Amino acid sequence: MVKTLCPHIARPESFVYPLTRSWWERPYVGAGVLLYDLFGLKGGAVPWQKHFGRRALKAHVPSIDHRRVVGGIQYYDALMDDARHTLAVVRTAAGRGVKVVTRAPVTGFLKAEEDGRVAGVVVRDTLTGQTHRIAARAVINAAGIWADELQQLAGANTFSVQPAKGVHVLLRPEALQSDTSILARATDSVIIARRWYGYWLVGTTDSPWTGGKSQPVAEAADVDYLLDNLNRYLERKVGRADVLGIFAGLRPLLKSVGDNADATSALSRDHAVIAGPPRLTTIVGGKYTTYRRMASDAVDAAVQPLGVATPSCTATLPLVGAAQWAQVKDSGAQLAQRFGMQPADAARLLQRHGDRVRDLRALADADPALGRPLPGAAQYLAAELVYAVLAEGAQTLVDVLVRRTHLSIELPDGALALAPFVAALVAPYLGWSRGRPKPNSKRTAR
Ligand SMILES: Cc1cc2nc3c(=O)[nH]c(=O)nc-3n(C[C@H](O)[C@H](O)[C@H](O)COP(=O)(O)OP(=O)(O)OC[C@H]3O[C@@H](n4cnc5c(N)ncnc54)[C@H](O)[C@@H]3O)c2cc1C
Repeated sequence: MVKTLCPHIARPESFVYPLTRSWWERPYVGAGVLLYDLFGLKGGAVPWQKHFGRRALKAHVPSIDHRRVVGGIQYYDALMDDARHTLAVVRTAAGRGVKVVTRAPVTGFLKAEEDGRVAGVVVRDTLTGQTHRIAARAVINAAGIWADELQQLAGANTFSVQPAKGVHVLLRPEALQSDTSILARATDSVIIARRWYGYWLVGTTDSPWTGGKSQPVAEAADVDYLLDNLNRYLERKVGRADVLGIFAGLRPLLKSVGDNADATSALSRDHAVIAGPPRLTTIVGGKYTTYRRMASDAVDAAVQPLGVATPSCTATLPLVGAAQWAQVKDSGAQLAQRFGMQPADAARLLQRHGDRVRDLRALADADPALGRPLPGAAQYLAAELVYAVLAEGAQTLVDVLVRRTHLSIELPDGALALAPFVAALVAPYLGWSRGRPKPNSKRTAR
């Protein structure tokens, strides 16, 4: 990911693990971090671990409480923007002929009359309310926390998913002084404060969630947990006033697989591929970082009864924005001048779009109003919001403010004040009239 697939979205990120205990903690943590070193060394993508004493650590992380923290170990992991990465994967697939349809949940399954095998799906267009039948020789269920419900809809019931809630908070840039991200022990797990588009992203909690699956809610206790655990290591404590935005998500943890389930993948491998009913394959559990492995396991299992081969090219296929990254990666200063942005903001613009920054330039050339930073959110270019609609499949204001950009968490009011401006900007491209937004008929990502 860091070198070939999407070097604009994923990059090495240095972390420091603060040491607070006696002599044994350093060799113990160092041995654990060795795994990261070895992974990094294998791919040649990230540097080797470094050890700091109390004073050296304070120089790198001025915010650290040096009375409590006796030293630290710096190591490298990789950081990426999951929403932008998912978008790049989908656009890459669309560019190679895959038909992408959004806002169309599966509401039923087609069954073959002769043997009852799954023969396709029924989907509902949430914009028009119409349903459509899509025939298929094989269907893959990758519905995350809804995967068990979907399998039941298809007529089988062989596993269950336990949603686990994770909450993150976004802190203003000045909340922490550090030239590296921090990973530290928390009361029941670990706490991570990482640099995120110039802000500090602090996460995460991990608790069972039994509420509505569409709307996980971050509670005051979640925010307190995050701030309290981070503050255990800080001299200048962070507080509610430092929090710009909060968001919650649900991890699809595989809870149980019935004895009769045809699970072709060991649960100990973290994700499971579950067959059944015939011609429906479910992929569930796992981690985002193993997405290509999960996809290949699921596709191989789904096509196995069809007797077709599915060689994969995704290990070396640059995602949208990556193919000509080398040619654009150093153009930050030029972009900053062209668009009147701060150099750091122009660098982040490049990280969001990679070589597709050329498309933004073309939009701005055609309409100078799009070549300006947003009022009150100068880290974004107006053209990005229009591009979200034209090329990234955005259909609604929420798509633009929450999913294609992070405006909803970067602005303390959740981007409420900016929303009318953004609505006016994207309205012509979505066919919205003054009174009410209309559904857009263009719905595939490019
Ligand atoms: C707070 C948090 C932090 C995390 N941090 C990390 C991390 O650091 N590293 C890591 O590797 N992983 C991390 N994860 C885990 C990772 O995000 C998940 O493992 C991953 O998103 C699961 O992918 P998935 O495709 O199985 O499910 P999802 O990403 O949940 O996707 C399921 C999709 O199915 C769709 N869907 C549901 N029902 C239907 C239907 N009826 N018809 C059509 N579509 C439907 C949903 O809309 C959704 O888009 C984190 C998760 C959370 C919540």
